[in-house]
Amino acid sequence: MSDKTYGFETLALHAGAAPDPTTGARALPIYQTTAYVFEDADHAAALFNLQTVGFIYSRLTNPTNAALETRLATLEGGRGCTVASSGHAAQVLALFPLMSPGAEIVAASRLYGGSLQQMKNTYPKFGWTAKIVDADTPDNFKRAVTDNTKAFFIESLANPGGVISDIEAIARIAEDAGVPLLVDNTLATPWLCRPIDHGATLVVHSTTKFLSGTGTSMGGAIVDSGKFDWSRGAKFPSLAGPEPAYHGLNFYETFGDMAYTFHSHAVGLRDLGPTQAPFNAWLTMLGMETLGLRMERHCANALAVAQHLEKHPAVAWVNYAGLPSNKYNALAKKYLPKGSGSVFTFGVRGGYDVGVRVVDNVELFSHLANIGDAKSLIIHPASTTHRQLSEDQRVAAGAGPDVLRLSIGIETVADIIADLDQALEKATRS
Ligand SMILES: *Cc1c(COP(=O)(O)O)cnc(C)c1O
Repeated sequence: MSDKTYGFETLALHAGAAPDPTTGARALPIYQTTAYVFEDADHAAALFNLQTVGFIYSRLTNPTNAALETRLATLEGGRGCTVASSGHAAQVLALFPLMSPGAEIVAASRLYGGSLQQMKNTYPKFGWTAKIVDADTPDNFKRAVTDNTKAFFIESLANPGGVISDIEAIARIAEDAGVPLLVDNTLATPWLCRPIDHGATLVVHSTTKFLSGTGTSMGGAIVDSGKFDWSRGAKFPSLAGPEPAYHGLNFYETFGDMAYTFHSHAVGLRDLGPTQAPFNAWLTMLGMETLGLRMERHCANALAVAQHLEKHPAVAWVNYAGLPSNKYNALAKKYLPKGSGSVFTFGVRGGYDVGVRVVDNVELFSHLANIGDAKSLIIHPASTTHRQLSEDQRVAAGAGPDVLRLSIGIETVADIIADLDQALEKATRS
């Protein structure tokens, strides 16, 4: 189907998945196969030389995964996509063609905690350095650039919520520095924000969250805008220099705006191997069929809950970008005009003990370490995800003793509010 004339909701249902030509099956088949029969020896040789597009072995490509890749590229307004086994796998895979020992990235300080761990503790083992800067001042990116800088990394809407990056300002600085801007769009999803429209080069996702939508399937993705000139400044030899594994093939010269995506399958997935299971890709495709409907309800419910909590006597503060009181509200209106997502934090009066008692007293909410499920979720970061940190580090990470993080689901909103009210009442009863 042509992408040009259809709306987002139509593409979320149809892009990448036509009825099966062999059987007529209307639902996308799960191609639970490891390998694919070659037509003959010439066909096999052409596939291995990357002279024809097709399927060889499912570590590199699989038809169910390819359907998800087409759908995500379409919804993000990108040129190509590569799915991976998790969001974190996608982040490593995304940087892999850009980096080498000694290379640096500049990343925002308020990212998903796991991403900061990955950058601070694991990337140095590859010889990669992440310089962490406060993204509220976009010029901090400019100041951190050196000759070894290969990428900028931000989140459109940061986990835990409330923090919104000025994507256009940071994209301009990336453009001047000749490096790609990577945007983690997990919390916003393309329904709320399309970073490529604002100048992003690559968009990464944890599809584990709102895209799959029901807390069933780990997955990640990289969408390439197809707009970056990888030959600029000779900074990216893996993409625009001779590739030894393919007889000196230059991906950028050969594949143009598909160079990055072809490289991430033909080299990245081939050599690193974080392939997504076709069953997970299938469940994520199923989830994406209702992405717009779910996000609409997630955002409406989250706004109502945030407004309610802001007036609640047991609550000290609410950090939701959709509230006029929030410091990111102007950026929210620009980048997330349809809503500010459904993940946010609030502070309880009474600190740590009250926070713990709230999670112990919820009935409808699930107390767990995930976000983006259709069901409402809650966690007290100081006693769970951030408990290894010192008190000062916790406060700096937005995980102080009084902080609770919510991921508001799509239940009846009055039930969500009633559950929080009764848990807050029990937690503060002396
Ligand atoms: C969960 C998450 C990740 C990591 O994704 P996994 O699928 O858990 O590996 C990365 N970024 C953000 C914003 C996330 O919420």
